Amino acid sequence: MALSKATGLSPDEKARATDAGAIELPSAKDLGYEWDNGFLLAPGEKAALAKLEEFCDDQRAIAEYDEQRNFPANPGTSTLSAALKFGTIGIRTVWAATAAAYSRARSDETRTNIRTWQQELAWREFYQGVMYFFPQLAEGPYRDPFKNFPWNNNEQQFQAWCTGKTGYPIVDAAMRQLNQTGWMHNRCRMIVASFLTKDLMIDWRWGEKYFMQHLYDGDLSANNGGWQWSASSGMDPKPLRIFNPASQAKKYDPDAEYIRQWLPEIRHLDTPMLLTGSISQQELKGTGYPVPIVEHKVQQAEFKTRYNAQKNKLRAT
Ligand SMILES: Cc1cc2nc3c(=O)[nH]c(=O)nc-3n(C[C@H](O)[C@H](O)[C@H](O)COP(=O)(O)OP(=O)(O)OC[C@H]3O[C@@H](n4cnc5c(N)ncnc54)[C@H](O)[C@@H]3O)c2cc1C
Repeated sequence: MALSKATGLSPDEKARATDAGAIELPSAKDLGYEWDNGFLLAPGEKAALAKLEEFCDDQRAIAEYDEQRNFPANPGTSTLSAALKFGTIGIRTVWAATAAAYSRARSDETRTNIRTWQQELAWREFYQGVMYFFPQLAEGPYRDPFKNFPWNNNEQQFQAWCTGKTGYPIVDAAMRQLNQTGWMHNRCRMIVASFLTKDLMIDWRWGEKYFMQHLYDGDLSANNGGWQWSASSGMDPKPLRIFNPASQAKKYDPDAEYIRQWLPEIRHLDTPMLLTGSISQQELKGTGYPVPIVEHKVQQAEFKTRYNAQKNKLRAT
């Protein structure tokens, strides 16, 4: 039996586990990861159940989920993903808690918010079902235009994306959050995935793999589903969407609070510069922060051209 350092056992319980032959698992730090930040949610069933109860009881959490869930600076989400992924909490337990919250709700508004959270849980179940019935999705795209898509796959640009040095502040802030904490807000997962696939035109499988290596809630079906949704290659009735990083930042991080949190080297700059990424060389001097590695407008047009060419090729065959 293995005993994790992070289980939160009392000294008594730990002594009994050791007597029973349990060995201590190495911590992330012992394994060489720079990981001092802990987790958004402590591992284990107790913490997951407590979080679920708090989330479902809290008037601001589940009752305002729909309005709050998209703002990465002030996350209004449950943070239960790792618990669901590792099974320290079961989906039926979570669903029962939402049903109880729904029956306690006093307004239609609250009920709508609870329904939205239930729909997110349903996305998880959907992707699990999809992976079960279409296991080939683990290897490649669902939609034909992406089967031989002419990706750029530029290694240098991929490294810039991985390390949060693309010159697009919202993208870079999100990648730094991932690298430093092992978690990333859902809105930002969509932004960085769109940027990798549509702006850098790098195969979504590179990003999918990087996420699996760094997310502590990394889950084959949810991750694959999220990446295929973002790349427009998945099972999706409205497939071609391209996020504009500046518009996303303006809408979901209007005061650049999240950007400033993760990009300390440019936190002193004015909010509009941080949101749009239009920062002069002069302003960037001495910060070490890069100018944008690509131009969004140009890249999105190029992506559409390639996508339409792929579709036309398929029609002709
Ligand atoms: C590119 C990309 C990659 C992703 N990779 C993962 C991953 O590896 N593991 C993972 O659990 N989620 C993944 N997601 C989905 C989502 O981002 C996370 O589940 C969510 O951010 C976790 O935070 P939370 O627990 O606070 O979510 P909440 O908003 O509180 O949602 C509750 C639960 O519903 C499920 N859920 C919510 N949104 C989704 C979704 N879009 N798809 C599937 N399940 C969802 C999760 O289990 C989550 O814990 C990914 C999304 C994208 C766009």
